[in-house]
Amino acid sequence: MDIKFTNRLSYKQAKLTVLVGFMLGTLLSVVQIGIDYASEDASINRELQTVLQISHDTASRIAYNIDAELGEELTGGLLRSPAIIRARLIDNNDTVLADSQRPREERRFRAVSDFLFGEQRQFQDRLFLAQMPDEYLGTLYLDVDTYAFSSRFLDRAGLTLLTGFTRSLLLTGLLLALFYLMLTKPLVTVISALSSGRQTRLNCPSGHERDEIGVLVKVANGQFVSMATEIEQRRNAENRLTQYLNELEDIVSARTEALKASHDRLSHTNHELEQARGRALDMAHARAAFLANMSHEIRTPLNGLLGMIGLTLDSALNPEQHQQLSIAHDSGKVLVGLLNDILDLSKFDAGQLQLETIGFDVATMVEDTASLLSQNAAASVELTCLIAPQMPATVLGDPTRVRQVLSNLLSNALKFTRFGRVDVRLVPIVGGVQVQVCDTGIGISDDAQARIFQPFIQAGAGITRQYGGTGLGLALARNLCSAMRGRLHVQSQVGFGSTFTADLPLLGNGRAIEWPPLCGRVHALSRAGSGLSELLQTQLPSWGLHYQRHDSPQSLDNEAMDLLITDDLEALEQLRPALSTPILLISAYGRFLSVEHARQLAPLHQLGRPLARGTLHETLRRALQGALPSAMAGQATGPLESQGAQILLVEDNPVNQLVAKGMLAKLGYRVQVAGNGAEALERLETQPFDLVLMDCNMPVMDGYEATRLIRQRARWPGLPVVALTANAMPEERERCRAAGMDDYLAKPFRREQLQALIERWLPLSD
Ligand code: ADP
Repeated sequence: MDIKFTNRLSYKQAKLTVLVGFMLGTLLSVVQIGIDYASEDASINRELQTVLQISHDTASRIAYNIDAELGEELTGGLLRSPAIIRARLIDNNDTVLADSQRPREERRFRAVSDFLFGEQRQFQDRLFLAQMPDEYLGTLYLDVDTYAFSSRFLDRAGLTLLTGFTRSLLLTGLLLALFYLMLTKPLVTVISALSSGRQTRLNCPSGHERDEIGVLVKVANGQFVSMATEIEQRRNAENRLTQYLNELEDIVSARTEALKASHDRLSHTNHELEQARGRALDMAHARAAFLANMSHEIRTPLNGLLGMIGLTLDSALNPEQHQQLSIAHDSGKVLVGLLNDILDLSKFDAGQLQLETIGFDVATMVEDTASLLSQNAAASVELTCLIAPQMPATVLGDPTRVRQVLSNLLSNALKFTRFGRVDVRLVPIVGGVQVQVCDTGIGISDDAQARIFQPFIQAGAGITRQYGGTGLGLALARNLCSAMRGRLHVQSQVGFGSTFTADLPLLGNGRAIEWPPLCGRVHALSRAGSGLSELLQTQLPSWGLHYQRHDSPQSLDNEAMDLLITDDLEALEQLRPALSTPILLISAYGRFLSVEHARQLAPLHQLGRPLARGTLHETLRRALQGALPSAMAGQATGPLESQGAQILLVEDNPVNQLVAKGMLAKLGYRVQVAGNGAEALERLETQPFDLVLMDCNMPVMDGYEATRLIRQRARWPGLPVVALTANAMPEERERCRAAGMDDYLAKPFRREQLQALIERWLPLSD
């Protein structure tokens, strides 16, 4: 440890002390010199006064006697004093009796002496004799050189300052030594011991046990002890930590080994699982492919079977035969449904479900589906499609899957509802559309609501027995909704009905369908709570029609309306002949009035439930233009009126040919069959036809090409061509329309649908 000398405490202490001591000493010396100066200054005057007193008598007598010689002796004697440099004796006549002087000596420090005491001083003494004190005899003048006195003073002052300095120096040395011995040395010893770093205990320098250094050493030793204890504790903790770490390392490596082993096992199992999954997927794919093929293969003969049984059911049968065939027909329908569900579920399992994203008219799709399923509605159930007027014309999504969801929900609703209403509501919601199927059926208990979405689960034990079904429909519907990133949920109360809601993210183009505006006064005779009332209330005003509803026929006024819409068969009888307004009767399919009956009530037109907006709009347009009454009357008579109408059925499948032909014949139409488009064109060349039912996919020439050629040749203007297709996709409709076809009927179709379609076109073709 090396501290610079000037930085040492002893030096600083000594320097300070000496500086203070030196300044004090100097001050004291200056004071002492000052006092000495004052006394020296006084002593000059005192001494010279003494000389003058001694010389007074002698000088007075010399002046009295006017003895110049003696005067010279006196002044010469006075000059012998080292301080006096001139002595003059003047008598009372100012005559100089004696004047002795000598030059001033130039000496060292003369200037200092002159400054302090003056260059010279003059003293004078008036001379008189003691016996004649009043008689002035003359004056003795003495000029004094102060140097004789000041040299003594200067010597003393120099000595005083010198001794002062010497004392200070000695004191400095002494103090330095003392401080060094007392402070610096023991401190340096302690610091060296501390800085060596090896000490665990300091020795107190001897003689310092009780002073500050002793205390410092004691405190440092105390710190050493506590540091040593702490270090010991830390070392112990470190050792324990190291030990734990080692143990942990052992555990980790053991675990790693175990994990590695289980990872290897898992990888192996995963690999096996992957292979098994691959095999399972392959199998599922194979199964799905098999099912798809099989379902197609089974469906085709099944359709034929069902069609034929349907036709036979309409013929004259005895009750037993009718019942047997009905059971066969129902079983066939269940089989088709089951086939479809199993096929779809197997597609889910095989991960084969691929969703399309195409633009389609969801509202029309809902109406078509409802119309297709309407035959399942019980007699006292009113099926209604309530489409919000602001629904976008097209939305983006997968129409097939949306149709499947709706079919499942709607067929359930119709199956479990014996009376009341079944409504399909379609409204736009934020980010998509909401399809809601509400019924007033048997309802579902709370605990069953949680289970019914699982495959093969039904709400109650007696359901299969009473209503049939497999428990697959809702599982499929929910799977489909999830696959479309939508949500399906149910609200229900036993005995009060159920509401199934599917929120589907089908984004719309924002624009609703723009219907050509209608003009007229349309009144309705229907219950306030009926689906028809609700539908007309929302739809008709949005088309620009004046609409009013009546509860009873009494309030109807012939003059106030252009058209009456009603679903009240009983009230209908009371209306004619008092009421002459055209009537539009809405009834369930298969419950149309007979031709005879309709003719009695003419002008009357019948439309089947559920009402589609397009059909309703078109019918209203014609009715309000006045074109309807006669046409409607004719139309209402349906098959009988148009008997003799020639229909060309273009269809390659013999079974389908048979079914359609049978239905058409049953409806009273004359039918010619062509096996493909080319054949159809040949037939058209040779024979007049009122309507063409055109299958789309056929060998030789398909339906699209055939229709295009029909339109190009312009030989049959206004000939209605209606597509028959198994493809229910909206783009298929578009394709048909682009080829020049007027309408579209999805296979498999029912006789009522075929009838309604032909009725729509045949009067126009007249
Ligand atoms: P399925 O109808 O073939 O039995 P689903 O999966 O479609 O199978 O329905 C499962 C069960 O949910 C039905 O068996 C029935 O108990 C109940 N359920 C579904 N929809 C309704 C409804 N609208 N009203 C009452 N119960 C219903």
